[in-house]
Amino acid sequence: MKSTELKNDFLYKLMSEMTSVFESSKDSNELILGLKQVFKTFGEIKDLKIYVYDKYTNSLKNFAKMWENLPDTKETKELSEKYEKIIKENKEYIKEKEAVFFPVYKQQKINGIVKIEGILDKNITDNFMPLIIRQLSLAIVHLKYFEKVKNNAKFYETVRNIAKITETQYDLSYILPIMGEMIDSFIREHLIYIFLKNKNKKEYKLIWPNKCLINNINEYLNEIKDGSYLIKDEGKTCIFPLTEEEKITGAIVAYNPLDILNKNEIDYLEQLTAQASITVNKAKEYMKVLKNATLDALTGLYNRHQFHERLNQEISNAKRQKTNLCCIMTDIDFFKSVNDTYGHAIGDLVLKTTAKTIKKELRQYDTASRYGGEEFAILLPNTPLEEAKKVAMRLREKIEKKKINISEYKIKDIKEISVTISIGVSEFDPKMMKDPEELYQKADKGLYIAKESGRNKVIVLEN
Ligand code: GH3
Ligand code: MG
Ligand code: MG
Repeated sequence: MKSTELKNDFLYKLMSEMTSVFESSKDSNELILGLKQVFKTFGEIKDLKIYVYDKYTNSLKNFAKMWENLPDTKETKELSEKYEKIIKENKEYIKEKEAVFFPVYKQQKINGIVKIEGILDKNITDNFMPLIIRQLSLAIVHLKYFEKVKNNAKFYETVRNIAKITETQYDLSYILPIMGEMIDSFIREHLIYIFLKNKNKKEYKLIWPNKCLINNINEYLNEIKDGSYLIKDEGKTCIFPLTEEEKITGAIVAYNPLDILNKNEIDYLEQLTAQASITVNKAKEYMKVLKNATLDALTGLYNRHQFHERLNQEISNAKRQKTNLCCIMTDIDFFKSVNDTYGHAIGDLVLKTTAKTIKKELRQYDTASRYGGEEFAILLPNTPLEEAKKVAMRLREKIEKKKINISEYKIKDIKEISVTISIGVSEFDPKMMKDPEELYQKADKGLYIAKESGRNKVIVLEN
């Protein structure tokens, strides 16, 4: 066999390996990793990076990390110079001692640059690379488009989920964290904060999460005047007002200490905030209507307000009739991960099922309330502590064994899931407890200890 034939064989093999990388890569990282591997088989290649021009920021971006701006370094500066030069002189490549730079195209126009560090054979750069570059350019356009479609789908799902919260929830202290997490998981590179204006409509209060890293945030918030968003810190902070009939009721804030928000993210956030406003306003309406309601809409148990009413009533009964009264506080373990893993609809189903199981285990005169998100409070009149402990232990066991059928949600063939609960139990002590709230606070303390010491257990606090 002649040597040129051998070379052609070799190139043919490389070409088909490259093609298979282009065809099989599902994201930019896979593409780059695959390319590096193939390149390594025919040269001393140290690294391979792809940079793509981003029209929103008018700068080059690392294709593997499209959300991030390039750091202000010598390497970045050199890269921009090479990019300009390739465009100006319409070069096939620029060869340096340590690296070779190739253009990337989008619809025949240069739209990026590939930097290959290491030594490439001249035959490869001249004969093989032009073919590869054309294929690579197509693959980049394709992957960027694919990424956009994926992102859009996720965006609509987030909007839908935010809209859906009020189907079962109306308590803002539960809605807002859920919403915060939804937006946060969509805009991954930035920190998200939710603020609401106080009743007197003057001050903003941070609602989620519990700490804000932006120094001048209060100053910024007071600068918003109408419904349009405000960009601060040279684009690193962006404030999106929550509104109700053109009045500002709060704000969703996105912040990245390292990078600016791009136009895409701003568009998404603007629409998500609009949906969030609708959800918050709807919840407030419900709250007004439900002010006199006694039951929790999702579980059908008593609501938090009713729990406190019942607590006062049962304590007066216990005092008057000199009977025992016990309180059980319980909270689902790792419930957040149920939401995160299976989605909020299944989270809601778990809440409903848990409430139903609790209700089934109680006697007629016991009362179960949904105290908050995944927390339930139970009052057991006419019950000594020993008895209440047995009830608690039975509840813990029943919940642990309860299989919740989720097959209709079609999540990776998972048919059923189960959860556990932690429980604190306390007994009313007429001598020591002056305030009715102390009974429930003591059970809550037991619950806290149960959580701290490993979860899925019952802690009874004796008097
Ligand atoms: P721990 O074992 O310490 O209790 O952990 P956890 O994950 O259960 O506790 P955490 O308080 O961190 O999370 C509670 C989650 O419950 C957060 C919130 O999003 C979710 N949640 C609250 N109310 C609802 C609701 O009505 N529906 C759904 N699906 N989730 C809710
Ligand atoms: Mg919990
Ligand atoms: Mg909780």
